[in-house]
Amino acid sequence: MMYADLHLHSHFSDGTYSPEELAAHARNQRLAAVALTDHDSVEGCARMATACDQLGVECVPGTELTAEHEGNELHLLGYFLDTRHPRLLRELARFQGVRQNRIREIVARLNHLQVPLQSEAVFALANCRSPGRPHVARALVRAGLCGTLDEAFDRFLKKHRPAWVPKCKMLAAEAIQLLHEAGGLAIMAHPGLNHNDKLIPQMVAAGLDGLECFHTKHSPAATVHYLALAKKYALLVTGGSDCHGHNKGRPLIGTIRLPHEHVTRLRERAAQLGAHAAQAPAPASLPNRPVPPQVSEFTPSPPSPWAAV
Ligand code: AMP
Ligand code: FE
Ligand code: FE
Ligand code: ZN
Repeated sequence: MMYADLHLHSHFSDGTYSPEELAAHARNQRLAAVALTDHDSVEGCARMATACDQLGVECVPGTELTAEHEGNELHLLGYFLDTRHPRLLRELARFQGVRQNRIREIVARLNHLQVPLQSEAVFALANCRSPGRPHVARALVRAGLCGTLDEAFDRFLKKHRPAWVPKCKMLAAEAIQLLHEAGGLAIMAHPGLNHNDKLIPQMVAAGLDGLECFHTKHSPAATVHYLALAKKYALLVTGGSDCHGHNKGRPLIGTIRLPHEHVTRLRERAAQLGAHAAQAPAPASLPNRPVPPQVSEFTPSPPSPWAAV
């Protein structure tokens, strides 16, 4: 059997692995295919594709957009995107600017609580354009201001905690449209965490292509439930570990194993919709080319007028 893990975060958002490390773990886990799905970013996709190509792992370019529908937050995974699509890149840059402002706002709230963290420390640690709360948590731990990441979330960063700042989100229907315009498929991420299945038919009406039925935080019963809903609404099925790095001492990548036939179906659907990445053949060989150097230069952009709301 061939398997895939289609939900991975790299250090281009809040994951801790580089794309090359993810590709190496994918190979070690004998995964046939992976997708990089950084929050509001496609920046790591080119390096992921190169690294996977060298190791003979099929790589699907992707992203994970934060969206909302009638006050409900939901995450939309995009697959087989044209990662150079101008409007996609413009929208992602806008959301990255919002994320950077949100970091400043979170830090301002922490400072108000007499927690002496500096936003520069968070940006230096994050070293990416799409920073998030996990970076603030890591900076708090590194500065000795919290003992653990969990403590940072529980005391300060979780919803309803004093340094929580909501994210500026795209309307879900607009996010689906954007992903389609960039030649990709739009998949509802981890529906079991939304606790709102009523959203599914509404998102289907807005053009949703699939459901992430297999996810680390889905129970076996939830997986069966979402597989049935995918069938009911004629949706594609995806799955992934949502790996952000190590979890309890081992990499999370590969702990969810999606049967590869679903990747074939995704690729076919994307090709039907004219997605350009889907038309490239999956790698068949294991060439041995040098790994490109890791780029780690990042300067946060100045505050944008899109303050987090
Ligand atoms: P953000 O995108 O800034 O809202 O941060 C969301 C990310 O924070 C998620 O993708 C998870 O990686 C992480 N996260 C959310 N809640 C927690 C939590 N309670 N403990 C640890 N990590 C969390
Ligand atoms: Fe995350
Ligand atoms: Fe998510
Ligand atoms: Zn994710």
